[in-house]
Amino acid sequence: MKKIQMVDLKGQYAAIKDQVNTSIQEVIDTTSFINGPKVKEFQKNLEDYLGVKHVIPCANGTDALQIAMMGLGLQPGDEVITADFTFAATVEVIALLGLTPVLVDVDPDRFNIDIDAIEKAITPKTKAIVPVHLFGQCADMEAILALAKKHDLYVIEDNAQAIGATYTASNGSKAKAGTIGDVASTSFFPSKNLGCYGDGGAIFTNNDDLAHTIRGIVNHGMYKRYHHDVVGVNSRLDSIQAAVLDAKLSHLDNYNKSRQNAARKYNAAFKNHPNIEIPKAGNGCETICDNCDCHVFHQYTLKLKNTDRDALVAHLNSKGIPCGVYYPIPLHKQKAYQDERYNDADFKVTNQLSKEVISLPMHTELDDDQIEVITTSVLEFLS
Ligand SMILES: *Cc1c(COP(=O)(O)O)cnc(C)c1O
Repeated sequence: MKKIQMVDLKGQYAAIKDQVNTSIQEVIDTTSFINGPKVKEFQKNLEDYLGVKHVIPCANGTDALQIAMMGLGLQPGDEVITADFTFAATVEVIALLGLTPVLVDVDPDRFNIDIDAIEKAITPKTKAIVPVHLFGQCADMEAILALAKKHDLYVIEDNAQAIGATYTASNGSKAKAGTIGDVASTSFFPSKNLGCYGDGGAIFTNNDDLAHTIRGIVNHGMYKRYHHDVVGVNSRLDSIQAAVLDAKLSHLDNYNKSRQNAARKYNAAFKNHPNIEIPKAGNGCETICDNCDCHVFHQYTLKLKNTDRDALVAHLNSKGIPCGVYYPIPLHKQKAYQDERYNDADFKVTNQLSKEVISLPMHTELDDDQIEVITTSVLEFLS
């Protein structure tokens, strides 16, 4: 059996080696390393895949969030509401721009930002909501859009973990994650569902004016060469990364299917265990439906009940099985983001999740034997 890994980038590369190598070689042959034709090609292909008017590539997912907020013209003192249970990049850029982060609790079933908590946190200074589509499924976008409309707020989707996921509204209309709010960010970090071989990111929007503004911001605030109209940044996706991404984009749906298949097998093994809560899928789906990409499993995350998590982690590691805890410390408790405005009692769910969650190996190359070893080892510990 192949060694079990959290993410198997080598196996994934081996399966498409010729295609990726050819794509990279084309860039090297043309030496168009920055803003070359590959970047345009990938941009166009990703726009078509997502059904969004504008994809603006940039250097990483953290930049993408920052640039989205700059593009919207958010100003120091503006309050931006986001989830307490997420990777720190989301709150980091809010703070860096001098905006005021307002962390709120999440929903215990799907780990995404809690709608009532958002509503309670809205003040006259609130300018934007940043839902994070955590672990591969969309936040409750319909409710978030309704709140945003009512209070005249922007919606910035942090889509670093859910590229390729589909959101179905209550009227049946479907949209890809990251094409629903005013603007969205994504990351092409190697382990993400669509990952490059280095750093990369992108911003998505259907708004022509905002896309124009953002295209200037990523390029030193230039709309005309050497004319700097606004303060910008230097944030580019390099052509070699675009070449990798363009080759991998054609496999994204299959990659996500592989993740869903692995999740189905995990679910089947764990579903009736008294110490385990299996992940719920998105949009109110209870299970992982066959033709619904409501969850693309960036992570497969269980909630453990009455279980010594550290001991389980040690048990799995002793059997050569890696696992992860995303995220062990709620953001409102992090030194950098503590704030006297926060009341720990308002973060009940995040506090509990940070103690209960465990993420099992999840990637595109997991085979049945590996899944069998993982599930058996977890169940053996809990028996
Ligand atoms: C990975 C990630 C980011 C940051 O992406 P980078 O490309 O590493 O900068 C932001 N938000 C979330 C939720 C992420 O998972």
